[in-house]
Amino acid sequence: MFNSLSDRLTATFKNLGGKGRLTEAQIDGTVREIRRALLDADVALPVVREFVAHVKERALGEEVSKSLNPGQQVVKIVNDQLVDILGGETRRLHLAKNPPTVIMLAGLQGAGKTTLAGKLARHLKSEGHTPLLVACDLQRPNAVKQLQVNGERVGVPVYAPHPGVSSESESVTGDPVAVARDGVAEARAKLHDIVIVDTAGRLGVDAEMMQQAADIRAAVEPDEVLFVIDSMIGQSAVETAQAFNEGVDFTGVVLSKLDGDARGGAALSVRHVTGKPIMFASTGEGMGDFEVFHPDRMASRILDMGDVLTLIEQAQKSWDQDEAQRMAKKFADREDFTLDDFLAQMQQVRKMGSMKKMLAMMPGSAISRQQLEQFDERQIDRIEAIVRSMTPHERNAPKILNGSRRARIARGSGVQVSEVNQLIERFGEAQKMMKRMAAGGGMPGMPGGGP
Ligand code: GDP
Repeated sequence: MFNSLSDRLTATFKNLGGKGRLTEAQIDGTVREIRRALLDADVALPVVREFVAHVKERALGEEVSKSLNPGQQVVKIVNDQLVDILGGETRRLHLAKNPPTVIMLAGLQGAGKTTLAGKLARHLKSEGHTPLLVACDLQRPNAVKQLQVNGERVGVPVYAPHPGVSSESESVTGDPVAVARDGVAEARAKLHDIVIVDTAGRLGVDAEMMQQAADIRAAVEPDEVLFVIDSMIGQSAVETAQAFNEGVDFTGVVLSKLDGDARGGAALSVRHVTGKPIMFASTGEGMGDFEVFHPDRMASRILDMGDVLTLIEQAQKSWDQDEAQRMAKKFADREDFTLDDFLAQMQQVRKMGSMKKMLAMMPGSAISRQQLEQFDERQIDRIEAIVRSMTPHERNAPKILNGSRRARIARGSGVQVSEVNQLIERFGEAQKMMKRMAAGGGMPGMPGGGP
């Protein structure tokens, strides 16, 4: 996500050594670099122009704290400007006073609407809502089926025109406007507090599709119309966003596929050219690959300052409360930390989603991009396999793991003996750390023990 832009910008700042105020020459050089970096990231030209003009103006001005060195001064200015261009404040969903809240999705075919519908439903459900999904994409073969599959994955019911459409190639016929209206009525009757209406897209913007979206909008009077845009579409993002803004007057934007090698231009342009807030980000094909979009946190990620808040929130959401309590009790009772605990913790971490994605949210200094590229998700699988190849007794008393036991474990888990040794060594360190913390009476905010 924004990798190349991020690398370019941070490299620019590193060049700014020295002390005191920024010189005019430094400002000019830096602004030129930022301009190039943004253009290469496919940010629309008017947006780039305004961005660098602001950065320059502020860098020349007196507003910057004198306690910062030149590099820090520029980082601060660019950070503030990024937050600004990404929309400033976090924009939450507006919920209807009289439920159900109606959320309509719009966007080109392949933008990621149907996937997003499932993710959004899952997210809202986790916040205690009772969403209903409505399948109005009757154009794309399989769209209804795909929504039903996503609904099932996240445990949210789907209202569809022909329940039971299951043939792979069968496309559903019917009137999408009527389906949308009926879907909302169904939600009201069954007391769902939120309805998410998935609509049809085309490969390019066309009048008929836009009319259909506008008709659905008029029929169900949504509280929110979310425009889903593929972050990878580059420069054409601006035109597409403008067309949808005029066609359906959306209320918020969802950036999808931010996990890809996206250059990020769409993200940085779309808010500026439409004036509509970015509300969510979609970051993968899994139903959990979804985030509420926070402009300040995203800016911080782009500038490689990490996004620890999102990391903690995801941890809190996926952490198994029983397991956390069990660990806390063990800790309080000063019981030994065993390899079983180590494994249990690793599984908790695993539940938070991709390790790589989590590491990417750590501040730049904690983990380099290179380390991140080299991180192998399968490493966790191997660790798990090693622990599982041990007997319960061995897991509780790793001291007994002599050479022949280690060789047996390596064979059993299909790894080299050196990997078993490494794991036991790491575990020993984790165990020591837990002991120290227990002695100090402190409970770690988040159980450690990752690889
Ligand atoms: P729709 O036509 O707008 O409903 O788009 P879909 O939801 O069917 O998505 C199109 C394709 O993009 C599918 O193959 C999805 O699995 C994929 N996709 C959707 N969102 C994401 C995302 O955030 N990241 C990645 N990598 N793929 C995505």
